[in-house]
Amino acid sequence: MKKLVLLALVFFIAQQGFSQKHEDTEVYTPVPPKVTPGKDCGGPPSDAVVLFDGKNLNQWVLTSDTTKTADWIVKDNILTVNKQSGNIQTKERFNNYQLHIEWRIPADIDGSGQARGNSGVFLASIGKGDAGYELQVLDNYENKTYTNGQAGSIYKQGIPLVNPSRKPGEWQSYDVIWTAPVFDASGKLSTPAYATVFFNGVLVQDHFELKGPTKYIGQPSYDTAHGPSPIKLQAHGDKSKPISYRNIWIREVVQPK
Ligand code: MG
Repeated sequence: MKKLVLLALVFFIAQQGFSQKHEDTEVYTPVPPKVTPGKDCGGPPSDAVVLFDGKNLNQWVLTSDTTKTADWIVKDNILTVNKQSGNIQTKERFNNYQLHIEWRIPADIDGSGQARGNSGVFLASIGKGDAGYELQVLDNYENKTYTNGQAGSIYKQGIPLVNPSRKPGEWQSYDVIWTAPVFDASGKLSTPAYATVFFNGVLVQDHFELKGPTKYIGQPSYDTAHGPSPIKLQAHGDKSKPISYRNIWIREVVQPK
């Protein structure tokens, strides 16, 4: 009797296997929208929001007074930090996104440690000054500093996996995938922020879980609930020569329904 049950079971399982077809696991909708990639590696694809194309700062305002257009220096298709005017941020707010941004430390950069080409990309700005989540920009080709504060770090939180820094004077790139934190109706954190970062095409942050917005002193925590936020660039107060940016674009990440 037992043998018969076992045989029936084997037959049933085999039949289930044979009744499955390859079509059963093939999906035809929704169809991913067609996107034309950028002409060059790093160029904006057709569905990107271009935040800086070398011409003007129409997409940017001063962080200290968001009614004023950003006044960093635009010349020869590049954007150079104006340390006197402070941080700048996008007019538009973003939630989950893919960001491309290129930056260059001056060839004749001076200073050391954190005072050598310091700037930063705040992946979400949540207030004035340096409030937000900073991806550090710094010359670390041959410049030592604390590892969770070097280029490619999520400042004071995430040490980059490797250091693919190029020499001062050469253009470098960040490609970022940002997953914004989610808060419930009472303002309590539901899911933290995550950042994946490629630095000059090399993975330096692998789906890194952030513990909260950047804190210069003390441990980070999610104290302030927020929604979609601007991207912010840092005018750091150190005395070294200002750095430059170019070719900045962003794509919102929308999951298919
Ligand atoms: Mg910085």
